[in-house]
Amino acid sequence: MHTTPDTLALIGNTPLVRLRGPSEATGCDIFGKCEYANPGASVKDRAALFIVEDAEQRGMLQPGGTIVEGTAGNTGIGLALVANAKGYKTIIVMPETQSREKMDTLRALGAELVLVPAAAFSSPCHFVHTSRRIADETPGAIWANQFDNTANRRAHIVGTAEEIWAQMDGRIDGFTCAAGTGGTIAGVGLGLKAKDEAVCIALSDPHGAALYNYYAHGELKSEGSSVAEGIGQGRITANLEGAPIDTQFRISDQEGYAWVRRLLDEEGLCLGLSSGINVAGAVALAKHLGPGKRIATILCDTGFRYLSTLYDPEWRQAKGLA
Ligand code: PMP
Repeated sequence: MHTTPDTLALIGNTPLVRLRGPSEATGCDIFGKCEYANPGASVKDRAALFIVEDAEQRGMLQPGGTIVEGTAGNTGIGLALVANAKGYKTIIVMPETQSREKMDTLRALGAELVLVPAAAFSSPCHFVHTSRRIADETPGAIWANQFDNTANRRAHIVGTAEEIWAQMDGRIDGFTCAAGTGGTIAGVGLGLKAKDEAVCIALSDPHGAALYNYYAHGELKSEGSSVAEGIGQGRITANLEGAPIDTQFRISDQEGYAWVRRLLDEEGLCLGLSSGINVAGAVALAKHLGPGKRIATILCDTGFRYLSTLYDPEWRQAKGLA
């Protein structure tokens, strides 16, 4: 056992767990990277730390400065905890459709929370544009810009991908996850391909996102919708540019929720819906690659963040998730 020098050093180096149900269902070994074990309980702590330290290194962020971001919540939580540890303020702009727990967590961390109505990316009210405007108008503020700031995916090239490679002893046949900013899929994809070009990188896209059609047919086009928070992208962000995607699956909320349920009931893991979609994607990738393969995916955040939504039977009924 060893000690950790400070709270920010707790970010990353998460466990990788073999998932029994998905492995038995496919005859493969399917592993989940436990990103809910980060201090902010999600994969986004990594991007938050890299974005803040990149801004510091560029001299853009001065002591006592402010970090502004538009987020589905998890990046905001990561930024707020990094900001607290380093003495910065945070202003977080979030669509009002996100879970109550994320809002409460952000307030508890001391972030200034700005809620905006859900709006199309083309609308000036969209949370990303609102956050950019607030950053422009706030003295001493930076805009974290997680979608197009490639410090985000660097966190996954030098962190997540290296860790997965080491934890799997360099024996990995495939990796899959969904995309929000695309930082995780692109960063882990680039990092693993640099180790072994043969690792199959698969995108698991929720309904309502446009990336499945882009990688399958070269056209950004979305169909259907999803209630999964934090994923579902409609454009090629700077983080997604050059992502080495070999194949793609479209995963429904129902398929994702079925795995959320099984992992909780059979393996004691309480996860969010994007993790379930990733695990359903890993099962699809296992079927695509055939038995005996070793596959990794991302367990993005904790289910405790969704007690008022995904884990509430009335909410599920209202959203058509039996
Ligand atoms: N799952 C959840 C719950 C998230 O908050 C996010 C981040 N938006 C993702 C998955 C996707 O990660 P990325 O932004 O790296 O694509």
